[in-house]
Amino acid sequence: MSFIELENLSHIYHKGQENEFPALRHVNLSIEEGEFVAILGANGSGKSTLAKHLNALLLPTEGHCRVAGMDTRETDAVWEIRQQVGMVFQNPDNQIIAAIVEDDIAFGPENLGVPPEEIRRRVSEALKTVHMRKYRTFAPHLLSGGQKQRIAIAGALAMETKCLVLDEPTAMLDPQGRSEVLGTVKRLHEEKGITVVYITHFMEEAIAADRIVVMEKGNVVMEGVPKEIFGTPEKLKQWNLDVPLAADISEKLRRKGWKIPKGIYESEKLIEVLVKMAAGRKSVVGE
Ligand code: ADP
Ligand code: MG
Repeated sequence: MSFIELENLSHIYHKGQENEFPALRHVNLSIEEGEFVAILGANGSGKSTLAKHLNALLLPTEGHCRVAGMDTRETDAVWEIRQQVGMVFQNPDNQIIAAIVEDDIAFGPENLGVPPEEIRRRVSEALKTVHMRKYRTFAPHLLSGGQKQRIAIAGALAMETKCLVLDEPTAMLDPQGRSEVLGTVKRLHEEKGITVVYITHFMEEAIAADRIVVMEKGNVVMEGVPKEIFGTPEKLKQWNLDVPLAADISEKLRRKGWKIPKGIYESEKLIEVLVKMAAGRKSVVGE
């Protein structure tokens, strides 16, 4: 059994009304415990709708969503599901409620009735994990966007969540905040084995994933390791997705006659190839 199983999952907004809209159409998808899955797709392709099914914020119109074997439709299971699957949304200002960082992180476990001593332990551990210990008594509004998202992640960790679902968590952040958040997520995945579902429209971020799922118009249109997804730039364009910068530059250099191998999508890899090529020539510039 996979940790998350979507079986023939459809979601229709305003079903039966004039404005009914099918946002997910018969989606089948499994995510294993400990996996890092990135979800890509153009605006309106159904990514956020899918994310909200993963902790029962939305329920299927048709089909099933199972988390750790529990069907999200079973009302008795909803609390347990929400404890196991923590959500981080796009806007850092909409998810922090308390006036002090450590109170905000304590909010989830307090609601679960966790004893105070244990709450203190979890808050301290979570702050340490996201490298935010020295900000524990700060007012959240004094933090940067990237720091606020790390506090939101710490809030989920304090619930001892097994899986983090992040819905475009870096969309409103500057490059520094983006790399802080992605770095934190990678570390949690590698060091703590947390299952990660990472929705993004930054191709460079999806490269960090074990597997990429591409959505279009409510369907899963492709799944594969980053190499498979980014190795077919024509398809990315067809799905209205950007091509990673390194893949784009490689293609443009090839058109100018440079012998850059196909299938390069990571900046480090492209730099390595260019450095090797430069070493073999007296002068690269101006040729
Ligand atoms: P994404 O996150 O990929 O941009 P969403 O899941 O937010 O996509 O939306 C998928 C489609 O469902 C969009 O066309 C959107 O307009 C529609 N939609 C989303 N939320 C609602 C809602 N509450 N009511 C009606 N339609 C919605
Ligand atoms: Mg969305």
